[in-house]
Amino acid sequence: MRVDVDIPGKHYPIHLGRNLIANAQLYPEGARNGRAFVITNDTVAPLYLNQVQAALGDQLPVHVMPDGERFKSMEQLSAVLDKMLALKLGRDTTIIALGGGVVGDLAGFAAAVYQRGIPLVQIPTTLLSQVDSSVGGKTAVNHPLGKNMIGAFHQPDCVLTDLNTLDTLPAREFKAGVAEVIKYGLLGDIDFFTWLESHMEALLARDGETLSHAIATSCRHKAQVVSADEKEKGQRALLNLGHTFGHAIEAHLEYRDWLHGEAVATGMCMAAELSQRHGWISRADCQRVDALISKAGLPTAVPSGLSAERMRALMQGDKKTAAGRVRLVLFRALGDALLSADYDDALLMQTLQHYCR
Ligand code: NAD
Ligand code: MG
Repeated sequence: MRVDVDIPGKHYPIHLGRNLIANAQLYPEGARNGRAFVITNDTVAPLYLNQVQAALGDQLPVHVMPDGERFKSMEQLSAVLDKMLALKLGRDTTIIALGGGVVGDLAGFAAAVYQRGIPLVQIPTTLLSQVDSSVGGKTAVNHPLGKNMIGAFHQPDCVLTDLNTLDTLPAREFKAGVAEVIKYGLLGDIDFFTWLESHMEALLARDGETLSHAIATSCRHKAQVVSADEKEKGQRALLNLGHTFGHAIEAHLEYRDWLHGEAVATGMCMAAELSQRHGWISRADCQRVDALISKAGLPTAVPSGLSAERMRALMQGDKKTAAGRVRLVLFRALGDALLSADYDDALLMQTLQHYCR
């Protein structure tokens, strides 16, 4: 299966299926002719690097990063660029990013800045990276003063989404990816949301057809939003559904204990609750959101020890502010999200108090 991403000035395919990584035909010509540099990590390399080598040869230069978000850093980026320069890799080199979002973001940024930009192939190996970070061209590393603060837009030449890689993904990481899948249904596609309600067990069991439909639909949604608004001037912000609440939870936990997708899951419940308190969606709608998120094995309540006041302050610190007021992604209806600064502060406080007990 193939999903096309059409961005002004750049058109590229997401190939979706099984046994794609070892298929040389799917890579750009330069990479097939030995002009490639692989970036991966020490968890993914033993699992899938041999398949890239089967496609492109085992003489390929490779950089294996340590596993972990804290290595999405300027230091690690520097190490990558040092190695590429020492190898005298030219501008016609394709970077192959093999791994989850951490590898994809760092490798993508390396591709954006190495000699002002070189080709990139994303091979996302987590559900989250397959439905989210590998699509849309945002690349970045973290800075001690903020996540993803140093980055660039750099679209890949193609994305190889090989469903086989999900066989080895830990269940908790898988579910965190499911949160972002649910997000696409909630923000713009009620039919997909309804489909997820009846296919969640099959999805969690990683049934092939179910996975493939869920991932393709998610990629199409992200690709559509990104095509309309590559640089996040408007519509792309809807992809932050659940994220402002979620970031406050992550910040409270100092980015430990909970995965991003878990925080977003609770955040989506809170966005639904606040919308319900405005009368925009019904109590039954809210219960559907909670029920699907619970069914996915994701949290629907905030972690203990987080007060409403503290959560409010942490949300204020989030960067999505318009004239000092935090804009939130809320619901006009289930499956129809909007970005709004036009909500009632008292209702927001009540929502936070409802959750932070
Ligand atoms: P991750 O890259 O840390 O991967 C999660 C864990 O799974 C890691 O331990 C990894 O080594 C392991 N792993 C990866 N593939 C595996 C496999 N097939 N089998 C077994 N283990 C495997 O995390 P993630 O959730 O993929 O990505 C999170 C990152 O993505 C964050 O840094 C976030 O900022 C970024 N992100 C970027 C965008 C974007 O638009 N660029 C969007 C969303 C998230
Ligand atoms: Mg996210």
